[in-house]
Amino acid sequence: MSIKVENISKVYGTQKALNNISFEVNRPEIVGFLGPNGAGKSTMMKILTTYINPTEGNALVNGHDVLTATKNVQKSVGYLPEHNPLYLDQYVREYLNFNANVYKVSKSRVEEVITLTGLTPEAHKTIGQLSKGYRQRVGLANALLHNPEVLILDEPTTGLDPNQLIDIRNLIKNLGKDKTVFLSTHIMQEVEAMCDRVIIINKGEIVANKKLKELRDGQDQTVIVEFDYRVEDAFLLRLPNAKSVKNTHDFIYEITFSTTQDMRSHVFDFAHDNELKILQLNQKNASLESLFRELTS
Ligand code: ADP
Ligand code: MG
Repeated sequence: MSIKVENISKVYGTQKALNNISFEVNRPEIVGFLGPNGAGKSTMMKILTTYINPTEGNALVNGHDVLTATKNVQKSVGYLPEHNPLYLDQYVREYLNFNANVYKVSKSRVEEVITLTGLTPEAHKTIGQLSKGYRQRVGLANALLHNPEVLILDEPTTGLDPNQLIDIRNLIKNLGKDKTVFLSTHIMQEVEAMCDRVIIINKGEIVANKKLKELRDGQDQTVIVEFDYRVEDAFLLRLPNAKSVKNTHDFIYEITFSTTQDMRSHVFDFAHDNELKILQLNQKNASLESLFRELTS
């Protein structure tokens, strides 16, 4: 077990940020910690990286107790904080060398993490000259310096443009092949793109902890079909397992089925039997986003 959280609560003054949280993360595994703003994600991550103490409960990282073995926890963990404080006037290589000194890591490791995070073409620039995507890579490179087994990444993709997003996602997926990655996000798509499992947190409590595959299998299925003519909703609801019908545009209908079996051939047969012509027929990806909204609203 790489991360083991047992009955953790955190109270700030009168505000309860975490309420009796327990979960585990294994190695290698990429687990998404998903929740709306204010859910308690950063608080949990700060506890796991020993920046703050829990009010109650305990956690082990790589077998080390966050309350009593802080040095060992810090050695095991690479942390990318939500608001990564980077020194804009410093050169990338200079910044990493400085931190390598602090962590007592060799200079050759600095070059390794520069290569690993794709920073080579930018390493001679100041951090201030870098795009947000490259600054995130500097943060990741920094988190990787001491070659930790566990990576804790707080909203690593927030604020990136679509191209940067894809690059950072791929980088994290690669890191997850032999490390434990625990990353937070408030966007379900990020979880779908990167994670093996999702732990959903809302108002300081865990509301779901499931493999992505299990979540997808449990979902309804929506088929988008365009006919050459108007069709009554009630008529389409006669399709087997049909749950709801939405007429989204002219003769285009979104039919939701309460089954994961591919219903397109049934729609095709149905159209044929009723002398309707199909102009287009597509399966819409089951939206895990709507599940997330359901669990956190
Ligand atoms: P998230 O990262 O999921 O957005 P946080 O862990 O940052 O959530 O915050 C959880 C809750 O705790 C929020 O309501 C936030 O306002 C509160 N909170 C976080 N840090 C502090 C603090 N230092 N003092 C008081 N309240 C805090
Ligand atoms: Mg946060």
